Amino acid sequence: MRVARILFALLAASSVALAGCGGARTTGAVDVNKLLEQKIKPNEMGMVMIIEYHRVEDEESDYTRSIENFKKDMATFYEKGYRLIAFHDLLKGRIDVPAGTTPMVFSFDDSTQCQFNYVKKGDKTVIDPNCALGLMQAFYDQHKDFGYTAQFNLLPQMFDQEDYKKKKLDYLQTNGFEFGNHTVSHPSLGRQSDEAVQEEIATMAKDIKSVEPKATVDVLCLPNGSVPKNQALMYDGSFEGYKYHNNWALLVGSNPFYPVWHYRNPGTLVPRIQAMDYDPEDGSGAEGSVYWLRYFDRHPELRFVSDGDPTTICAPSYMEPRLTGDNIPSGVQFVGY
Ligand SMILES: [Zn+2]
Repeated sequence: MRVARILFALLAASSVALAGCGGARTTGAVDVNKLLEQKIKPNEMGMVMIIEYHRVEDEESDYTRSIENFKKDMATFYEKGYRLIAFHDLLKGRIDVPAGTTPMVFSFDDSTQCQFNYVKKGDKTVIDPNCALGLMQAFYDQHKDFGYTAQFNLLPQMFDQEDYKKKKLDYLQTNGFEFGNHTVSHPSLGRQSDEAVQEEIATMAKDIKSVEPKATVDVLCLPNGSVPKNQALMYDGSFEGYKYHNNWALLVGSNPFYPVWHYRNPGTLVPRIQAMDYDPEDGSGAEGSVYWLRYFDRHPELRFVSDGDPTTICAPSYMEPRLTGDNIPSGVQFVGY
């Protein structure tokens, strides 16, 4: 096995960005040989997945994952070495998961009550163990290293319990969950006028901020995945004097993507993968979560595998030319093997 080499070419290429932050931080320079001995082949140039959920209820159907399947999803992701991280961490290249595991993001659309429900238990108000968040909490209690975070794309009803609206957003905000703006009335933005697009986005951004002033609202979740005719309005616009700015827009389907430092990263228009079963016989569920899990089982060399060190991008040396310098967080360096 070749000795791990630290490639400094990348640092030279991004010296301008690094200089602004006081120069390169020396890293723990991950011991690749040790990882390889443990049968871990880091590939931080591989692909990652954002898994998209809508309703989580008793019966499985279009846009509903059954409670049983949601539990099964988490168990399967965990067993296959996927670990939850926050959307912003993934999209800013702050990937801190154990060596040999793959970061994953959960993304919930429409802010329905079945995602986050409070129930009375005696004189206490507790998270319903059968809502999506309650199920995540229970899984996390048993598997702390799976992670407990997700991104919730909000509509005005904000989980449908008016009395608990603020309490819910506070809970999510203080427990490391994140929010996305899913517009006011969920229209396909591709069919709306420029003014209507801005009204939809600005009004919802303002609404979220009014309930949770500390929330970061810089992700637009496109209803039905529909991109407005004037694409710039996904990111910047205003309505009645309220200005909004989004750094990312989320699509509905249907593929994994390369990390921010890879030249094939999709940029600010981010694909997700719907949580659904796959039947290879009739092709139903193709490009859903179960399909892609199977794909990565068959093509493990395409999957992102962490080296356990957030300050390095560790991958086979031949992948180094695929780096795109602008998106490498400062202090992070490529380690090829
Ligand atoms: Zn939706």
